[in-house]
Amino acid sequence: MHKETLNFQTETKELLNLMIHSIYTHKEIFLRELISNASDALDKLKFKALTDPKILEDNNEFKIEIFVDKEKNTITIKDNGIGMTHEDVISNIGTIAKSGSRAFTEAMKEAKNNKDDLSIIGQFGVGFYSAFMIADKITLNTKSSDSDKGVRWVSTGEGSFTIEEINKADRGTEIILHLRSEENKEDSNEEYLEEYKIKELIKKYSDYVRYPILLEVTKSNVDEETNEKIETIEQEKINSQVPLWKKSKTEITKEEYSEFYQGKFHDWMDPLKTIHFKVEGNLDYTALLYIPSKTPMDFYSKEFEKGLQLYSKNIFIMEKCKELIPDHFRFIKGLVDSPDLSLNISREILQQNRQLGIIAKNLEKKIQKELEKMLKTDRDGYIKFWNEFGVNIKGGIYEDFGRHKDTLKNLLIFNTTKDENMTTLMEYKERMPEDQKHIYYVSGDNIKSLEKMPQLEGIKAKGWEVLYFTDKIDEFAIKSLGSFEDITFKSIHEANEELSSDDDKKMLDEVAKDNSDLFTKIKEALGDKISKVRPTTRLKSSAVCLVSGTDGISFEMEKLMSEMPGENPMGAIKAERILEINSDHELFKALVKVNETNPENLNKYAEVLYSQALLIEGFQLEDPMEFANNMTDLLIKASKN
Ligand code: ADP
Repeated sequence: MHKETLNFQTETKELLNLMIHSIYTHKEIFLRELISNASDALDKLKFKALTDPKILEDNNEFKIEIFVDKEKNTITIKDNGIGMTHEDVISNIGTIAKSGSRAFTEAMKEAKNNKDDLSIIGQFGVGFYSAFMIADKITLNTKSSDSDKGVRWVSTGEGSFTIEEINKADRGTEIILHLRSEENKEDSNEEYLEEYKIKELIKKYSDYVRYPILLEVTKSNVDEETNEKIETIEQEKINSQVPLWKKSKTEITKEEYSEFYQGKFHDWMDPLKTIHFKVEGNLDYTALLYIPSKTPMDFYSKEFEKGLQLYSKNIFIMEKCKELIPDHFRFIKGLVDSPDLSLNISREILQQNRQLGIIAKNLEKKIQKELEKMLKTDRDGYIKFWNEFGVNIKGGIYEDFGRHKDTLKNLLIFNTTKDENMTTLMEYKERMPEDQKHIYYVSGDNIKSLEKMPQLEGIKAKGWEVLYFTDKIDEFAIKSLGSFEDITFKSIHEANEELSSDDDKKMLDEVAKDNSDLFTKIKEALGDKISKVRPTTRLKSSAVCLVSGTDGISFEMEKLMSEMPGENPMGAIKAERILEINSDHELFKALVKVNETNPENLNKYAEVLYSQALLIEGFQLEDPMEFANNMTDLLIKASKN
C-alpha cells in the first residue's frame, strides 16, 4: 500500500493547535500519557492471549522501553503490546474519540480567553497528542498482533498526517518524538534528553505501572587492568512496579506501611494510624489513608491544602484531590486508586464527578468508623489524635451549616471534673444522676484555673460532673450542637434554677426580702455594670461570683468577640452580668454589718466585690487603679476598727 496523506478532524486540529501554541507548565505529562498508553496496550495483549496464547510464543516479556538520543534529538517510547492495524491507527490516532480530550479543549480555550492558569493540563488525560507539546514531529511505528505488516504514521501536528505500510519485525508500538527546539530558553525541551529527568518523570508519574519501564542508560566503569574508562550502555528498570496499596493487607508489615508513608508524604515520624481498604462492586477503588502523629508544620498556614493523591490504574493523576476529603478530616494523608476514574479528568469535571463523590462519601464514613473504633478500643491513641487534630472535628460540628454534627458529636471528648481520661458525651450521659437535667460545662483558658471557679462548688457538692472547655471553639461547637440525646448543655456561669432545691429557693427568697435594703444599695452602687444582685446557694467556700443570663451570650463568647481584630461592633456586645453573693459566707455578714454601722462605705465594698468577681472570671478590670484605691481605703479602715 502506498503512502497516504490524510487531514485531521477539525476537533483534533483545535486540540493540536492548543498543544503547540500554549505555554504549559505541565509539558512533562507527555511521558506519563505515552507510558500509560503503552501499559494499556500490554494489558490488552495479555487479555487477548487468554484466548489466543499463540500470540505470546516468541515475544512474551512484557516491557516498555525508553531510548533517548541526544544527537538526533529524539525520545522513543516502545512497547511490545497489542499494536495497531492500519485501520486502528486511522481511527485511534487520527481522531479524538474521547470526551476527556474534548473537555480539555473546552477548558483550555476558556482558560486562554480568561488568561487563567493553564497548569490545569496536568490533570487531564489528553493522551497521545500531549506529545506535541514537546515534539514538532512524531513518528509512530506499529504492528498489530493480528497482522504481518507494520504501519508508519507521521505528523508534524499541523493539520495532516501520513500513513504507510512498513516492514516491522516485532509486535507492538514505537513512538519517536522529535523534540521541538524552542527559541525561548525557559521553554527548552533539552532537559527531556537528560537521563535524570526521564528517571524523575517515571518515578513521579509511572512508578507503579505494572510492566517494567526500561531506560537505556550509559554506565561508566574503570577497567581494572588497563585503568581505562569504559562506557557501557545498559537497560535499567526505573519503576518499582508494585504499588504497596495493591498488595493484600496481610502481606504488608507495619514497617512497610510506615516507610511508604514517610517517603511519600514527607514525614519523619510514623503515622498514628493507617487505614487501608479495598472496595469492589459498582465502583472499584483502593484507599490507603494515614493519620499523622503530629500536626504538620504548615497545617495552619495558607499554603496547606487538604486532599488525597489520586491514581487511576496505578498511574498518578493528581497530588491533592480535595474533593475526596471533607474539611473536618483535612489532616488525613493518603491516596486513592480507582480504575473507574479515567485519566481524562479535569478539575472542573472532578467537582461534578459522580464516582468521585461516591468514593468521598465512603471514605468519610470509613474514617468516622475507624475513629469511633479507636475511641472505644485505644483511648490513649485517640487522645493523642485528639490533642493534634480534635479541633478540626469540633470545627466540623458547626462548619458546613452543621451538616456533619450528628456523626461528629460521637467523636467529641472532653476533660471533666470526674474523669482523668477524657470522656465522650455518651459516657458523661451514662454517669448522670437522675436529678441532673443538663450537661454542664465551664469554659476558660486552662483546667487549672477552671478547677477553682467558685460556680463549680455547688455543682460538685451535688455530685454532678462538669466538662472543661479549654478550646476557644468548644462553646461554639456545643451551641451548634444544641443538645446531646435531648439533653441540653448549660454553662455553670449561667443563672440556673436547677441548682437550688425548693427549700433553698424559699430560704433565698427570705434572705433577699430581709436584706432588700442592702441588695438595693449594692445594685445602685454598681449601676449598669450588673443587671441584678442576689443571694445564692451555688457557692460553698467562695463569697461572690458572676453569672450570665440564660438567653444572651456567655462570658466566653463576650471575651472571644472582644478579641476579634478591627473595629468590630461585636466587640461592644456584653453578656448579662448577675452578681451572686453567698449568704452563708462571713463576708455577707460583714456586708450586713457595714450597712448598719457605716453605710457610707457600702459603695466601696460593692465595687471591690464586683471587681473580684470579674477577676475570677478572667475579665480585665476597666479601672484597675480605682480597684487598688478602694482596696487600700478599706484595708486602712479595717485596721482602725
Ligand atoms: P486514550 O489512551 O486515552 O484512549 P490516546 O489519544 O492517548 O487516548 O490514544 C488513543 C488510542 O490510540 C488509544 O485508545 C489506543 O487505542 C491507541 N493507542 C495509543 N497508544 C497506543 C499504543 N502504544 N499501543 C496500542 N494502541 C495505542
